[in-house]
Amino acid sequence: MLRSTYRHLRIISRKILNRYDPPILVLLYHRVTFLESDPQMLAVKPEHFLDQMKFLKEHFPVLKYDADWSGVREPSVVVTFDDGYADNYLEALPILQETGVAATFFITPELIDSNQEFWWDELERVILGKWSYPDHFELKDKIYHRIWLTATESERKTLYNELHPLMRSLAPERRKVWLKQLRQWVKTDEAGRASHRLLKNQELQALAKSSFVTIGAHGMTHTSLGGQPMDSQENEMKESREQLEAIINRPVISFSYPFGTKSDYTTDTMNLCKRLGFTKAAANYPGQARRWTNRFEIPRQIVRDWPIDIFEKKISEFWTR
Ligand SMILES: [Zn+2]
Repeated sequence: MLRSTYRHLRIISRKILNRYDPPILVLLYHRVTFLESDPQMLAVKPEHFLDQMKFLKEHFPVLKYDADWSGVREPSVVVTFDDGYADNYLEALPILQETGVAATFFITPELIDSNQEFWWDELERVILGKWSYPDHFELKDKIYHRIWLTATESERKTLYNELHPLMRSLAPERRKVWLKQLRQWVKTDEAGRASHRLLKNQELQALAKSSFVTIGAHGMTHTSLGGQPMDSQENEMKESREQLEAIINRPVISFSYPFGTKSDYTTDTMNLCKRLGFTKAAANYPGQARRWTNRFEIPRQIVRDWPIDIFEKKISEFWTR
């Protein structure tokens, strides 16, 4: 009872605030494609994405992420993508161009133009695939040793669910050791699935050339920055920017923290981002940006594979979060 009263009061106060201080709703997408299995819920089907973009264009000013937001006078939306999957170019770009919606794509360049998958996709490919699985998996590095039973599908699901959060906070070198042991366990190599590949250099160049698109950096190896030493954080930011600038031949001025929850970056991370010359940094927690929001901690709302009726409902809730 108390909770629903509080929620109700918050919604009313947000509505009043929104009238005097128009919010900017920054939406976060990852992939536009159809996937048979999508345990992290990153993919939005192309038909849903088309409906979503049409709806945004019809109902709100759609701003560019890199634009100056200080003069915003009415509630507005911004579209962003994280990571750098090939479908950003193949599926999302044609829809953005058709509907006239601008978007910023934050790219992690390490695996661009390779045939490897992101570590979380590889985790899924290896553990939740159709391999002939040994009855256990033994993970061992200098400071970690553990054995999981893996004969049944549900045991392997447990392994996936437990490894995902553990690997999220690992330094990139250690994560590579763990992935190698997983591949050896099912006797597969690094080559990933076509359905999970990242952009090729040429695709990234073509994406960057569209007048609807800006490219931002998203760290070199998609590592949670908050727990890393400052020199590693600096390398992640600088290298990702330099590598992207070399590919697309234009300046990269914005950043998005890998994973982006409040535990994935610190005040030092935000200050570093500013010192390195980035103009804005996007996070990943619910909320709206306002004229006074810290430009190095911009909240974003993740969009899932919602049909248009659910999307409309979610958007109206997002304004009062
Ligand atoms: Zn990401």
